[in-house]
Formats: sequence, C-alpha cells, structure tokens
Amino acid sequence: MANHSKQQQLDDLAQKIVDENVTPELKAGATQLVFGDGNPDAEVVFIGEAPGKNEDEQGKPFVGAAGRFLNEMLEGIGLKREDIYITNIVKYRPPNNRDPLPDEKKAFLPYLQSQLEIIQPKVVVTLGRHSMNCFLPDLQISQVHGQPKRVKLALKAHKGDVLEVVILPLFHPAAALYNGGMRQTLIDDFAAIPTILEKIKDNK
Ligand code: URA
Repeated sequence: MANHSKQQQLDDLAQKIVDENVTPELKAGATQLVFGDGNPDAEVVFIGEAPGKNEDEQGKPFVGAAGRFLNEMLEGIGLKREDIYITNIVKYRPPNNRDPLPDEKKAFLPYLQSQLEIIQPKVVVTLGRHSMNCFLPDLQISQVHGQPKRVKLALKAHKGDVLEVVILPLFHPAAALYNGGMRQTLIDDFAAIPTILEKIKDNK
C-alpha cells in the first residue's frame, strides 16, 4: 500500500519534470527522461551525476559499464538493485557525456529533494563529487570518501520538518572502473554501507 502510493508520487514527480520543461536544451537533445529506478521503500538511495548513452537509450540509471560495476559491489555487500533506489542529480543526458553544468544541477535539485522526501531513505550514497557537493558543498571527495556524515534536509512538503539522513560520499564507479587504486578504495568504502545501516537500526 505505502509502496504503491510512494511509487505513484514518484511517477507524478517524473511527470512534473516533463511538464515543467526543466532544462529544455538537455531535454531536446535527450531520448527520454531518466528519472530513477528501484525500490521506493529503500533504506539506501544512490545518487549519480547524469545519464550516459545507455541510460538515455533504456530510460534507467546506471545500466552501462559503471552500472555493472555498481551491481557487482552491491552483490558484494549482499544487496540487489531491487533492494535499493538509484537516481541521478541531472535527469537528461548531457551532450557527449559532458559534466553537468552548475545551472543544470541547480534546476534539478528541488526535484531530487522531493524524490528523497517521498522515499525517506536512511542513507544517501553519493557517487562522485557532483552528487556529494549537492549535500556537502564545502568538502573534497578525496578527503572524505567513505566517511558517513549526518545531514538534516529541509522538507519542502512539510515546512519546518527535516529529513535526517546519513550521507556516504563515494567515488564515482565510472572514474574507478579503470583505475586500480581507486577501484579498490571504492570497494573498501562500499563495505561501510551495511555497518551504517546496522548502526542506525541499533540506535532505534
Ligand atoms: N553515470 C552516472 O552518473 N549516472 C548514470 O546513470 C550512469 C553513469
């Protein structure tokens, strides 16, 4: 029941992005909106940067090489894609896979916040510096990767209320894919996820 209504709210939010013509230039160059995928009741949400070619074609985040690596790492900690929710900051593919521009990230941020507000995750895993800087603007990923940070997000739907989440900043799997050292660091950092979830449960 709750699951269905969360999915319905997410579907409505995706439609809102289309209706409100967010980043019309990106939209015009993209095949489709890549809104997000996975379990709307997930305790863990992963946030990447923006869709690439495969994602643009299939309409789902992280379905290319970086996604396969991500799936492997999830398996390594006993999770499946169906257990988590995954999305990007920017929800249309930037041309030639360039980095998302500051204005593009800014345009999508309120929708990302609403997405989190609907899902109410306990842990938000940011993939790459763009995603981390949405929540932790002053930090350097090289210095804080793998270190969980408690953050209070102001809720839009319920003014004055906050959503308390643990942000876990990780390197982006695409950056780590062909870099042996970073790859191992990312795998090691991933191991923090079950520990963080257990700690949150114990504190309840
Ligand atoms: N990289 C991202 O940041 N997101 C995707 O969906 C795919 C690759």
